[in-house]
Amino acid sequence: MAINIAIDGPAGAGKSSIAKLVSKELGYIYVDTGALYRTVGLYSIRKGIDTKDADAVTATLKDIKVELGFVDGAQHVFLNGEDVSEAIRTPEASMGASNVSAIPAVRTFLFDLQRDIAKNNNCIMDGRDIGTVVLPDAQIKLFLTASAEARAERRYKELIEKGEKVEFQDVLDDINKRDYQDSHREIAPLKQAEDAILVDNSGCNLEEGTKLVLSIIRERL
Ligand code: C5P
Repeated sequence: MAINIAIDGPAGAGKSSIAKLVSKELGYIYVDTGALYRTVGLYSIRKGIDTKDADAVTATLKDIKVELGFVDGAQHVFLNGEDVSEAIRTPEASMGASNVSAIPAVRTFLFDLQRDIAKNNNCIMDGRDIGTVVLPDAQIKLFLTASAEARAERRYKELIEKGEKVEFQDVLDDINKRDYQDSHREIAPLKQAEDAILVDNSGCNLEEGTKLVLSIIRERL
């Protein structure tokens, strides 16, 4: 049986950076489920559709094929055959993802893809509802968090390094807005699973956060 590790938590908590390194160490694949919601959001944005318009976004789903591929262990996401792994990393795509992720049809649309990967592979899967909804039977569940300021600081640095022109306050506002939306939506809200281990890595750099998570996982494997 495949070993599944679920990591949930708010935006910018370090889930993807840490999970990438930990999965390499363990020889597991790393699945970033946020990329799937971002891809659905990106399609609507490109078509000029309001990502909050549930009917309009739901109507696009029949025209979308979302696929995941793994190149040297790194995840790539494809939208109708186009590799959009970079295109989904803008602040607009982040907000679009948060908007479309509150639409039930979108969650249903992406559910099987996530479940099938986990069934067939030892994996670390990160998102918002992995431990609660997608993989309730995951062997290990972590809820990774950090203060909003620490998370905004990390996101801000990432975006600046990529050459994006952003203000720190806007990044912090976005994080707070997404946290609120993600935790208050009716369907699959962001919340800690009862059997998840809470890990706060506010004061940690990436190396320290990775060590911490790896040690918690190794104790339980
Ligand atoms: O993890 P990331 O920040 O890339 O996710 C983008 C958005 O996708 C989140 O703000 C959240 O609204 C949504 N999401 C979700 N469920 C997941 C993963 C992401 O609703 N499992």
